Amino acid sequence: MKFIETRGNDGVHPEEITFSEAILSPIASFGGLYVPKELPVLGEAFLTKHLGSTYQELASDLLSTLDIDIDPSVIAEALSLYDKFDDPLNPVPVVKVRDDLYVSELYHGPTRAFKDMALQPFGVVLSSIAQKRGEEYLILAATSGDTGPAALETFKNRPNVRVVCLYPDGGTSDVQRLQMVTEDGSNLKVIGIKGDFDDAQSALKRLLSSVSFNEALKAKNISLSAANSVNFGRIIFQTIYHIHSYLELVRQNAITLGEKIYLDVPSGNFGNALGGYYAYKMGLPVEKIIIASNENNVLTRLINTGRYDLRGEKVIPTTSPAMDILISSNVERILFDFFGTARAKVLMNSLESDRFYALTDDETMKLQSIFAADYCNGAEGKGYIKEAFDGGYLMDPHTATCFKAYDCCATKSLKTIVYSTAEWTKFSPTIANALTGANDMNDIDALKLISKTAHISIPAVIQGLFTKPITQGIVIDKENIETEILKFL
Ligand SMILES: *Cc1c(COP(=O)(O)O)cnc(C)c1O
Repeated sequence: MKFIETRGNDGVHPEEITFSEAILSPIASFGGLYVPKELPVLGEAFLTKHLGSTYQELASDLLSTLDIDIDPSVIAEALSLYDKFDDPLNPVPVVKVRDDLYVSELYHGPTRAFKDMALQPFGVVLSSIAQKRGEEYLILAATSGDTGPAALETFKNRPNVRVVCLYPDGGTSDVQRLQMVTEDGSNLKVIGIKGDFDDAQSALKRLLSSVSFNEALKAKNISLSAANSVNFGRIIFQTIYHIHSYLELVRQNAITLGEKIYLDVPSGNFGNALGGYYAYKMGLPVEKIIIASNENNVLTRLINTGRYDLRGEKVIPTTSPAMDILISSNVERILFDFFGTARAKVLMNSLESDRFYALTDDETMKLQSIFAADYCNGAEGKGYIKEAFDGGYLMDPHTATCFKAYDCCATKSLKTIVYSTAEWTKFSPTIANALTGANDMNDIDALKLISKTAHISIPAVIQGLFTKPITQGIVIDKENIETEILKFL
């Protein structure tokens, strides 16, 4: 598989690159993102073949069909990390919640959120390529909560990669903060910033363009990479569970092979949904991909009106913070796929300069042929959490947004897979409030209350965080980030 750029080639950069190059230097293209030049069509034969496969067997065959330039032994090691999930034989359980609605649980990995699905194997792959080339990489991440812990966990003590993770002090949940500040790998640095997520992110942007910082990296022979979902190494691992979840419905006799279904995805940066879209392009029988959002509903408006409009918009803090995003990076890959390089470039340039673009009616209809969308506010989300709980299912506020979208958009009587992206333990104060009305709780009290109310125990990895020694307690002003990172390097 070869990769090309969404905004076309400038005649200076290589016209196409390999998978390893795309994941080592995801930001090397001139402005755009790397996308596969073509995708194989898998068809029903591939699905039939894997009805009896484990998750790892399916993943391994899919990756070899995609023909990426990674040694099979490295892929095998990467996929073996799914053995660390709650049930090694079924890392992604699919649970029936209502007659036509099934939940695919993507949070059974070490940090209890869906980011582990891709970042766990990705850590092995990136570190192996860097080692093979004898190169050193630095991953800089600004996190609002879930990416940071998952990135630290996967790269901990892996050779040739260092990770610096910036988080807004006071801007994450207690559990998310503890997951970061108790990490102890010698190649990891966690820095709390006085300020909010935007401050952390803009501090990071300034750093990336700082001449002195870049010269210091060069002198130390360190290159920059990225672990967010602009990196195609994330996306490739996020196609697998969509195929797996479909096969699970066949195995559970909910559908017959070939029957179409809805995929219902809680979306922020559109990486999860993009994985579903690629699975559909490779032949997965999908009726529509439903994009669920919170009050930051840019994606709902894009899909329903064809307009991406950020003029006068500010991020609204919500009870599903992993989706508090206005610039949803992976939409660019969809624009490229539907409308081609020239149009993607015009639209993205317009978003960057005017904070706005509008698709034509024709283009909007094309988008709507496979995507549908709705958004859910916090109060509605809590209502869905309570309703599901009364029916015997406990879910987090991100997953809850999908239930509103299901009510709106799953118009045909087909089965729907809702993707659950976080365990209840990561957003416990909101869930405790939804279930009992209790207000202003801290995480530990909320965890105990839910545990008592729902008769479930708090997982050991979460419980343990509250007594684990803090090894990365530093909180600084954003002006001092560069000095602090250079000290670490
Ligand atoms: C990251 C995340 C999302 C959003 O996923 P995207 O791929 O960015 O659309 C949704 N829910 C949770 C809990 C997440 O951590």
